[in-house]
Amino acid sequence: MSDKIPTHDVTPDPVAHHTPQEAVTHEMYASRRHIYVREIKGVFQRLRRGSNWVLMLAFFLLPWVPWGDRPAIWFDLPGREFHIFSATFYPQEFMLLSWLLIICAFGLFFITVFAGRVWCGYTCPQSVWTFLFIWVEHRLEGSRNRRIKLDKQAMNADKLWRKGAKHAIWLAIALATGTTFVGYFTPIRELVVELPTLQAHGWSYFWVGFFLVFTYLNAGWLREQVCIYMCPYARFQSVMFDRDTLIVSYDEARGEPRGARKKSLSHAEAREAGHGDCIDCDLCVQVCPTGIDIRDGLQYECITCAACIDACDSVMDKMGYPRGLIRYTTENALEGKPTHILRPRLMGYLAALLVMIGLFAWTVGDRTPLSFDVERDRNRLFQTTAEGNISNSYAITVRNMDGEDHVYRLEASGLAGLTLDTDRIRVPASDSRQQVVTITAPADAIEQPSHAITLRLTAEQSPDISLEREARFLGDLRR
Ligand code: SF4
Ligand code: SF4
Repeated sequence: MSDKIPTHDVTPDPVAHHTPQEAVTHEMYASRRHIYVREIKGVFQRLRRGSNWVLMLAFFLLPWVPWGDRPAIWFDLPGREFHIFSATFYPQEFMLLSWLLIICAFGLFFITVFAGRVWCGYTCPQSVWTFLFIWVEHRLEGSRNRRIKLDKQAMNADKLWRKGAKHAIWLAIALATGTTFVGYFTPIRELVVELPTLQAHGWSYFWVGFFLVFTYLNAGWLREQVCIYMCPYARFQSVMFDRDTLIVSYDEARGEPRGARKKSLSHAEAREAGHGDCIDCDLCVQVCPTGIDIRDGLQYECITCAACIDACDSVMDKMGYPRGLIRYTTENALEGKPTHILRPRLMGYLAALLVMIGLFAWTVGDRTPLSFDVERDRNRLFQTTAEGNISNSYAITVRNMDGEDHVYRLEASGLAGLTLDTDRIRVPASDSRQQVVTITAPADAIEQPSHAITLRLTAEQSPDISLEREARFLGDLRR
């Protein structure tokens, strides 16, 4: 037996690629073709618009919702406090954020295995804002054909005002987006007063400007380029697909051979004449926001917005043909094989998702809305009182993570006869306080240079809110 590894010559065909440079140029770069998206109505577009409106309203309105004397959602970075309705989270609890991100990732995996890129088509901010910008474009510059004509014609007063108004509205939306985004980190009611009067913090101007430019460019100019070339999800989602994943597909067996025919031909007559159901009207391509032809098969550019389904269904209705030439289906169904909804991979993701949601809910529910740190006075190891007893001082920082004010009782244990000069600390809801506390021990209780003691903090009105911290109590054995 030969011990050589079998090899194949894969040198590029010199006829197909005249020079190496030419080959690279052809494969690596294609100049952008502007996509004039045609507006279409239909079931899926109503669904998509509905979800877009819900998400946009939630994004724009949430920072305005008050909660007591603060916004309901406020990520207070300088104060290191993250308020979400009645709950306040601190940087120490960032583990919860990791849990949340893992849940989101598994949620995305689950939905992708089940229904492909529905996230992209119906909920991704890039799609939501792009569809909004296209909607504005359509209102001001007209239908697809009018927009193509307008772009070809020389500048005149009509074109100037239409283009000017479109960009002004795009910029206004982008400004509102940037301001709202910053409004999650700075109370928005103050921000909208401070921004125009030049009283806002420099970073607020920077981030509003950054998101203004980012939104305007991404949704107004780059659009499908973000999905095709920049989004990592577009690249890896295909590995999660299987033959039972719901995808937007063209039914080739039913549609081909495509071609124009007399409208007077009934469905049966067209079939008899050898026509497939696709009349090659190109409407499915014209409505596609990423500019692809779904009849060429599943492509990674497809964001599953289903505009082509609505477009083709409207054509089928006009022709008197059954709907669904383009539809949500699976590869198995297209080949006439059974589709398996309950399959191991999907069930695995669902199980992992449910377990993680359960653990997250349990962790949040079991969370003690209190945190405190104990720091010894570093300037003096200990003090000797007039009575000859030993005292140590501690800086105690208490964070009340509850939605109510609390008075906390402080107790110390671990050494006989410990007394505290302050044993009550009052902290308002979602706030923190620092208190210096001196703890004194009888001299005869000190048996070694350093003792472990325990400090316990308990909310007076809610004894179940209670926490312990270990600390060291130092003394002098030489006396
Ligand atoms: S919309 Fe339907 S009929 Fe028209 S080209 Fe596309 S697949 Fe064919
Ligand atoms: S092919 Fe159809 S579903 Fe995919 S992006 Fe284009 S219009 Fe949307």
